[in-house]
Amino acid sequence: MTTIFLPDTKATQQLGINFGKNLTAGSVILLEGDLGAGKTTLVQGIGQGLGITESIVSPTFTLINEYTEGRIPLYHLDLYRLEPQEVTGLNLESYWEGIEVTPGIIAIEWAERMPYLPDSYLKVCLIHAENGTRQAEITAVNCELSILNIYI
Ligand code: ADP
Ligand code: MG
Repeated sequence: MTTIFLPDTKATQQLGINFGKNLTAGSVILLEGDLGAGKTTLVQGIGQGLGITESIVSPTFTLINEYTEGRIPLYHLDLYRLEPQEVTGLNLESYWEGIEVTPGIIAIEWAERMPYLPDSYLKVCLIHAENGTRQAEITAVNCELSILNIYI
């Protein structure tokens, strides 16, 4: 696990930009952390890094927001309001397996609620730290973190 200090909103966005610039299609980013921890902020950075100019907001009425304007597609999910059966019904694996879906980056907020996980993924836990700052704890499961130039 790699810990990164995020002193302000810009730092969270910058981490996301790094992801958006470097990750390959089929990458799954599982975002964990309390309400207000910075998950959506990180996804907004990913969008920026991919070259998406459309504003990125958490999916509320739609279950998945798709952005196709950037280098590769971004699929943004927020499982906060969903029951486990509803999550299962989303057929999430079709996104990371690229079945009938153009492969892209899949960013999932409240990933703690996933009933099953892909074989490989990056997990980012955002944690409230001192004086309103944040900390990101990043774990790479069956994939390389070095692609992000994160060696801390
Ligand atoms: P979540 O999606 O986890 O609920 P948001 O991304 O909506 O959280 O962020 C909530 C607030 O936290 C926003 O106002 C954002 O600007 C702020 N924020 C994000 N990262 C940081 C940080 N590293 N330090 C301080 N505030 C941050
Ligand atoms: Mg959010």
